Amino acid sequence: MTHLFPTYQRFDIEIKEASGTVVTDSQGNTYLDFISGIAVCNLGHRHPAVQKSIEEQLQKVWHLSNLFPLSLQEEVASQLVKHSSGDAVFFCNSGAEANEAAIKMARKYTNKQKIITFKQSFHGRTFATMSATGQEKIQAGFGPLLPEFIYLPYNDMKALQEAMDDSVAAIMVEVIQGEGGVVPAEAAFLQEIQNLCKQSDTLFIVDEVQTGIGRTGKAFAYQHHNLSPDIITAAKGLGSGLPVGAMIGKAKLIDTFGPGSHGTTFGGNPISLASAKATLAIIFDDVFLQDVEKKGSYFIHKLEKVVEGYAFVTAIRGNGLMIGMECGEQQALIIEKLREKGLLTLPAGPTVVRLLPPLTVTYEEIDDALSIMKEVLEEVALPV
Ligand SMILES: *Cc1c(COP(=O)(O)O)cnc(C)c1O
Repeated sequence: MTHLFPTYQRFDIEIKEASGTVVTDSQGNTYLDFISGIAVCNLGHRHPAVQKSIEEQLQKVWHLSNLFPLSLQEEVASQLVKHSSGDAVFFCNSGAEANEAAIKMARKYTNKQKIITFKQSFHGRTFATMSATGQEKIQAGFGPLLPEFIYLPYNDMKALQEAMDDSVAAIMVEVIQGEGGVVPAEAAFLQEIQNLCKQSDTLFIVDEVQTGIGRTGKAFAYQHHNLSPDIITAAKGLGSGLPVGAMIGKAKLIDTFGPGSHGTTFGGNPISLASAKATLAIIFDDVFLQDVEKKGSYFIHKLEKVVEGYAFVTAIRGNGLMIGMECGEQQALIIEKLREKGLLTLPAGPTVVRLLPPLTVTYEEIDDALSIMKEVLEEVALPV
């Protein structure tokens, strides 16, 4: 009998050990992990440099509270600022908290209330971030929601232009919708968001909780475009599995969160930050990021070949190592069969199989995954 709320639909395997791209279940079966804790373990499981950094910090101090200065926070913040359009960082524990901070920042800084987000977006499960999330199934039963959120169709330029005016505090957008189905924003759409924000003293917020920290082959996915967002939120990949989130903002925002205005007990704690420091030291490196881009193109290109001839696969989308395979009603069956054959993948929306291998995945592991996928597509295509 379980003493847990049945909050999650869980796989029926229990992972007992993990190293790099490979995880081992309680029966001793091994799997290629192309979930990576949902884009969290970007360096694979238990990367030695990250483990060492955490272990060293464990010997020094675990927790103090943000009443004490912490040079680790300064070091990680300077890494994030150096590799983004931001100038200052607020640390928290999760993606939802980073977005929550961004929403509070937007209202306080602009003294306006309205926030534009997009249909099929995902921004988190707290009241503000659930209200920002443009999906009814996530909001159902929890109303009334926080007021003044407007959900526009994604990639719809005309709807955006019509909805925009000086009363909008912020536009919050995912550069690639992750939970919504691995759907990239069009370049011109993102550019128009930035232009409209500039004209109306509106903050341009990119939610990079899933796309950030090297996932797409850039430090942040917006850097594939010529953009300079006011706020960038990050979390998932930042701590390689330890809980840490960050809201990165431009200099003009610095005075908005003065002492007493916003805060957190655990956010930016020494153990998580030791993990983040070692993680960014590896990922925020041009050669490493170029390699992610190359592996991503290789994977997408080969996958396009593999799915040829299977009519139920209607699209391959993504960037870098964030890849979605649109396969309609077959989604759940494909994910189950992939798992049986030793490849862990996850759904995105109702019809997409999502692939999020660690950024350290090898070409051999990509090839192994591709051959498992080929076998499964063949089986699914067979008449029953
Ligand atoms: C996962 C995710 C979040 C929420 O992060 P949590 O750490 O689960 O609170 C927010 N935005 C995006 C784009 C995400 O993928």
